[in-house]
Amino acid sequence: MQNPIPHAALLASPGLGHLIPVLELAKTLVDPHGFRTTIFVIPIDQASTAQNQLFKSPNPDLIDIVVLPFVDISDLVDSTTSVVTSLVLMMRESLPLLRSAIFEMKVTPTVLVVDLFGTEAFDVADEFGMLKYVFDTTNAWFLAATIYAPTLDRRVLEEHAYDKIPLRLPGCRQVLFEDTLEAFLDPKDPTFEVFLELGKGIPKGDGILVNSWQELEATTFKALEDKSLLGRVARVPVYPIGPLVRGVASTQNSNVISWLDKQPMESVLYVSFGSGGTLSSKQITELAWGLELSQQRFVWVVRPPMDDDKSGSYFSAGNGNGDGTPDFLPEGFVARTRDIGLVVPSWAPQREILAHPAVGGFLSHCGWNSTLESITNGVPMIAWPLCAEQKMNGTMLVEELGVALRAQAAAYEDVVGKEEIKKMVRKILVEEEGEEMRKRMREVKYSAQEAVNKGGSSLKSLSQVASNCKIRSEDLGAKSKGARGDLLISQ
Ligand code: UDP
Repeated sequence: MQNPIPHAALLASPGLGHLIPVLELAKTLVDPHGFRTTIFVIPIDQASTAQNQLFKSPNPDLIDIVVLPFVDISDLVDSTTSVVTSLVLMMRESLPLLRSAIFEMKVTPTVLVVDLFGTEAFDVADEFGMLKYVFDTTNAWFLAATIYAPTLDRRVLEEHAYDKIPLRLPGCRQVLFEDTLEAFLDPKDPTFEVFLELGKGIPKGDGILVNSWQELEATTFKALEDKSLLGRVARVPVYPIGPLVRGVASTQNSNVISWLDKQPMESVLYVSFGSGGTLSSKQITELAWGLELSQQRFVWVVRPPMDDDKSGSYFSAGNGNGDGTPDFLPEGFVARTRDIGLVVPSWAPQREILAHPAVGGFLSHCGWNSTLESITNGVPMIAWPLCAEQKMNGTMLVEELGVALRAQAAAYEDVVGKEEIKKMVRKILVEEEGEEMRKRMREVKYSAQEAVNKGGSSLKSLSQVASNCKIRSEDLGAKSKGARGDLLISQ
């Protein structure tokens, strides 16, 4: 008799940077691990073209994408509410919708996989007898800081925030105040408590999947396993399963790609701050001048300035009209750089751009997906972190891997100046230092490929999770034959 196929339900929290890796995980669970999957998406802005494109299933027979109704939390938030808090609220408000959606499924899924913001949904998984996993869509170092912080005496976290004392993580790299997670910057900010609660939720499942790989973060993964170090905090097995990144679309009709086709090898800097990152008007002006002064080729994804918000486009990512010349760039900039640069409003086909041979560097906010996309294409980076865990990612790239330069803001005004930008751009594209980084990035790229290839560490690690799910799936199959009315199979 044939064993039932395991069915994974994946819950993606709002934001393209969350949905993209969840989609990749679903694809990998289907092939090679033989799952059926349903992705429940909590959408951001309804009008996001980039988001709506992701709602088309790449494999409708085996990957079902269910977009839950948009939840309006405008009554619960105000202009001071952080992205983290808004995400938690949106997830909480969506739980009844998730419960009903699972209840109505013909066959109850075997496992529920949620991201960092979705652990409150574990109660729903318990109601239906499903296995529960957290998918950390960033790296193991971030995971270590997030699960360890809630176990610390509050005074330690206050000393970290107020006296700038490094946060010591047992068995792994300490977190300097300058690099710390945004949520740890101010213990008086409500986001601080919200984030600590998120950290507490992570060990409550059956395991933690991380979009990183053993060879990239060997020390941290070891610490997360070791019960005398962070293993006692993680409590459940931690599985490095990455890098899970999007492949290049086979057909691509885009102006950017046609433009890149005409440029020399490794001559172009790609500049982008992720799905929602925004810069102040002063910073945009300095960046424009820096690019122009460098006299190097560039593709720059621009968004209107936001003076007090570094993730100002988070909930409206990818819904710009993409046309016209932005009027917030220095006068004459587009005309003067016409022969060397391309300005793309709001959204660009990033995975295709980074895979293009003409691209020689990536100036990035160091979101983890962007970081992995740069690594898997062997493109060295200029690390320009804005918020969330991006400073930690930047530090890993610059100090541990030696594959990026770090943009340094002038301490007195928090703006990276044009001369500094010019220098970094030239270093990464034309100087020896950049060439060295490119070589090292190729080595990291190779290690990333090995991890997900046949016999690779991440593939093996996800196979273990898959076999846990298969065992549960068989148990459920057996139960459903024996006991009608069992809640686990809601026909
Ligand atoms: N992205 C894209 N085009 C853009 C901006 C972003 O395709 O113009 C994609 C990018 O390739 C990545 C994701 O959006 O997969 C952004 O995720 P990341 O973790 O880098 O940053 P976040 O947006 O979550 O801050």
